[in-house]
Amino acid sequence: MYKQEVLDRFLRYVQVDTMSDESIADKKHPSTPGQWDLLRMLEGELKGLGLKDVVLDEYGYLLARLDATEQGLPSIAFCSHVDTADDVEGNHVRPRVVENYDGKDIRLNDEYSIVAADNPELARYVGSTIITSSGDTLLGCDDKGGVAEIMTAVSYLVKHPEIKHGEIEILFSPDEETGCGMDFFDASRLNAKALYTVDGGTRYEVELECFNAATVKVHFSGVSYHLGAARGRMVNALTMASAFINAIPQAESPEATDGRYGYYCAQSASGNATDMDVTVYLRDFDYDGLLRRIEVLQSLGKTVELLYAGGKVTVDSKISYLNMGEAAKKDPWAVEAIFKAGKALGQPLHTEIIRGGTDGSRIAQIKGIACPNLYTGGHNYHSRFEWAALDAMNDSVALIIEIARQWALEFSKSHR
Ligand SMILES: [Zn+2]
Repeated sequence: MYKQEVLDRFLRYVQVDTMSDESIADKKHPSTPGQWDLLRMLEGELKGLGLKDVVLDEYGYLLARLDATEQGLPSIAFCSHVDTADDVEGNHVRPRVVENYDGKDIRLNDEYSIVAADNPELARYVGSTIITSSGDTLLGCDDKGGVAEIMTAVSYLVKHPEIKHGEIEILFSPDEETGCGMDFFDASRLNAKALYTVDGGTRYEVELECFNAATVKVHFSGVSYHLGAARGRMVNALTMASAFINAIPQAESPEATDGRYGYYCAQSASGNATDMDVTVYLRDFDYDGLLRRIEVLQSLGKTVELLYAGGKVTVDSKISYLNMGEAAKKDPWAVEAIFKAGKALGQPLHTEIIRGGTDGSRIAQIKGIACPNLYTGGHNYHSRFEWAALDAMNDSVALIIEIARQWALEFSKSHR
């Protein structure tokens, strides 16, 4: 029903070069000029659709509002990010449309193919349309799939005023892939009682929970001395740092955990025998589990200090984002609306957990509103083997529209 429009939009958006640059994202936002190109294109299209309050701010956050068709209904928001990752080339995307997919491997170029045996999900789409890259770049369904789906849903709602809904806010943001996606966003601009990010993957998957995350910076100060006369005097900061890193339990590392298990990850180390800086990432679905790991590192710092008399260790922790599941618990309706919508559409939705964060988790933390993540229909993100299924993208558009409708049904009912 929405296939032609969502496909046209998607093909147009992925050809805008919006690869973000993590190395400068904390200083420059958006980090790359191409993101402005897509944001301005979307700004123009939203204005063209007749939306009011279309504002692209100085940091590259594009917020627009679609008027309610009935007064007294809560506002909800849909959000996706315009940038693409840089794990492989994310610019110069030349999308390929494979119509009437035959179930076999999809040849991308002389070197690369998407192997059907490695992608069991492909079998669901035999006979329908698959979109891939040319094999030289990623495709960019993460998250231009979400952008195209939200835009298509909005354009449909504009043309169908008979569908009841409250105010709908549309938020397109830059630099999600750099981890700085929401750093400059003024969340007070949002009226929404719930924000749905459209930044997931496989069809029918809904993500309600992500990690709680902290970054711990550990500084080791040694005591320098002439090496020829160092006995009993010198304290080597590098030795202290390696003792610290070695004491972190290996069984609780990213490479040894999955599912709901949290971890410690020694992420970077720099310095010399006099001064060392070590950064450790902590992740846990359970907030108490995150706090426990922070405490472990603090006592480990004290222990290393005692072991290397004269040396100093400081441990500073900062929470980066929280499990968005906490905010969702306070507003069960925001989640229920998704499953009611899925039921109304005959979509067998199921929940997954994200071993990572989303832009939504930042908003959930700042605003205390539920921010579930909806599927886009893309696979193999951040790789040249990325592909998207048009049927799934079409279903995602339908889900967005139906969620808005379910909110209206629920709240106009209770006002009667
Ligand atoms: Zn994404």
